[in-house]
Amino acid sequence: MMDQIVTGSTDTHLVSLDQSQSGNVIQSIHKQVVNPFFDLQTAAQNAGFELKICSAYRSFDRQLQIWNGKLSGMRPVMDPFGKPINIQKLSPWQKIQAILRWSALPGASRHHWGTDFDIYDASAMPENYQIQLIPEEVQGNGLFAPMHNWLDSYLESGKTDFYRPYKTDKGGIAPERWHLSYRPLADKYAEILTRELLAARLKNSDLMLLDEVLKHLDDILQRYIIVD
Ligand SMILES: [Zn+2]
Repeated sequence: MMDQIVTGSTDTHLVSLDQSQSGNVIQSIHKQVVNPFFDLQTAAQNAGFELKICSAYRSFDRQLQIWNGKLSGMRPVMDPFGKPINIQKLSPWQKIQAILRWSALPGASRHHWGTDFDIYDASAMPENYQIQLIPEEVQGNGLFAPMHNWLDSYLESGKTDFYRPYKTDKGGIAPERWHLSYRPLADKYAEILTRELLAARLKNSDLMLLDEVLKHLDDILQRYIIVD
């Protein structure tokens, strides 16, 4: 059961939240994260922000679709600055690294757990604005930057167990200021996600470039999955 949660292969641990305005109205998060999330939302509201989720749970199959879509050219792959790149001339390992910069390996996404989600400030959004989740939105003069600046100090205050797992750039995943994680549960799941569990789940799927992924699995785990 735990193994299935960790690899995104079940949805029994989730409940649905209405997050209207986000485009994808219903978002699913872990049962045990609902109350901590509401507390966070209330704190944000008191500070003048409307903290909402634009992407929470994603299943293994969904992540697999994204992965195979990118490798087959059906979906764009972005460079480290968020510009589309052509991956056709890259080696298999280069392709994998280009995709992993912005998208998780199926079975190894923190979004499988229901403990992790991407947030935005609905109160800062012009009508019909399309959320992109790019660095420009969340830093400097970005429209979601004020909420994230407030959030920095709130996360430091010790009043919440949420944290930012992708705060710094370690040459793997791009720093994602919009990504929040509920540490008490997420730490547990991170521990359960072993190389063996992940490899077994991947072998039991239609993952494109599977052999190349398995060959580099240790490196992938180090650079793209394990966080502080
Ligand atoms: Zn995320």
